[in-house]
Amino acid sequence: MFDNLSDKLDKAFHILKGHGKITEVNVAETLKEVRRALLDADVNFKIAKDFTTKVKEKALGQDVLTTLQPGQLLVKLVKDELTELMGGDVAGINLSGNPTVILMSGLQGSGKTTFSGKLANYLLNKKNKKPLLVACDIYRPAAIQQLYVVGDSIGVEVYSEPENKNPVEIAQNAIKHAKANGFNVVIVDTAGRLAVDEEMMNEIERVHKAIQPQETLFVVDAMTGQDAVNTAKTFNDRLNFDGVILTKLDGDTRGGAALSIKTIVNKPIKFVGTGEKMEAIDVFYPIRMAERILGMGDVVSLVERAQEQFDEDEARKIQKKIAKNEFGFDDFLSQIQQVKKMGNMKDLVGMIPGASKAMKDVEIEDDAFKHIEAIIHSMTPIERSKPTLIDVKRKARIAKGSGTKVEQVNQLMKQFEQMSKMMKMMQGPGGKNLMKMMGG
Ligand code: GDP
Repeated sequence: MFDNLSDKLDKAFHILKGHGKITEVNVAETLKEVRRALLDADVNFKIAKDFTTKVKEKALGQDVLTTLQPGQLLVKLVKDELTELMGGDVAGINLSGNPTVILMSGLQGSGKTTFSGKLANYLLNKKNKKPLLVACDIYRPAAIQQLYVVGDSIGVEVYSEPENKNPVEIAQNAIKHAKANGFNVVIVDTAGRLAVDEEMMNEIERVHKAIQPQETLFVVDAMTGQDAVNTAKTFNDRLNFDGVILTKLDGDTRGGAALSIKTIVNKPIKFVGTGEKMEAIDVFYPIRMAERILGMGDVVSLVERAQEQFDEDEARKIQKKIAKNEFGFDDFLSQIQQVKKMGNMKDLVGMIPGASKAMKDVEIEDDAFKHIEAIIHSMTPIERSKPTLIDVKRKARIAKGSGTKVEQVNQLMKQFEQMSKMMKMMQGPGGKNLMKMMGG
């Protein structure tokens, strides 16, 4: 996420390394590089200029902080300013009203339908809501179908009227249906076009007026940079929306949209999409994002994700197995599955302070566990529960079956052994506290 920007900012701060005091000259030089980094990330020119002017004023007024390293001081000022630029505080979602009506707007392909599903999934599982998804795209039958696929995958009902060509009526009927059937959130997915056009704007304006949503969300593809900001402005002029959803932040996004949108439309980014899966949704925290951009990681989010995926029953089951010396490859596999649910590897590495930089040149596979899973799947159930059975002959068979090399099987066996040993140690005297710390 925003790798290029992070890299360039890091280089900018290098200019100050070794200088004992902040002077106007070295600040100016560093900030010139910061501005260049922002422009390269596709941040609006005026925003980038104002940004560095503000940081400069603050930096030169900070005589009190001479005890700090100038580099550190400047990084802090840039972090504060980046946080401010992205909205300052976290902006929650308004769930008032019964049902709460949420209207999704945005161009076709921005990720509206996917996000509607993610939001429904989030509200269902994290906020104990009973959401209804509504298909209001009257032009593309495939779009309605897509929403059904999404709804099915998360167990959320979808409302549609394939014969009705009036989206206002469909949305109103959906709300009636929700009221009559105990749904407390209605998420209305609307038709999008490839570019902004008058007909689409009129249509969504009419729907907006008729259903008076508590939340009108504008969904935008972060990869589109400055274009994203322009589209946001057009939609905001017509709908006066409540918040922005930035999707595809998992891609090779430069960051321009995330950094410019708040200033241009004065509306907060509420959520971000970080993948195609239904779980790939994050509440947007400006300060955490600023820290990630500056390579400081985002430990808070990492711990939160671990806690979210943590399954107490599973942990207890595993603890018992370790105590009885029954921890096997099936359990190993289920641990991997839990880690995988936390997100893709690249994303997780970006949350560890300093790790992004340290691993810059390491190719991180999106599916880093692919080989391990293949190897375990090639083992027989008996081998999985009694790994000591796996001898040279069996290893050769497993390698062949999984399309890996015997060395890879050996490596996994070794990792497994070490992990089992460590787990056993943690169960012993003194280890209990460690397990507790880890939530076990
Ligand atoms: P819509 O036309 O606005 O409803 O857009 P869709 O929901 O159909 O999304 C368009 C494409 O973007 C689909 O292939 C989605 O799988 C993909 N997509 C949506 N959100 C994300 C995201 O956060 N990350 C990635 N990598 N892909 C996404």
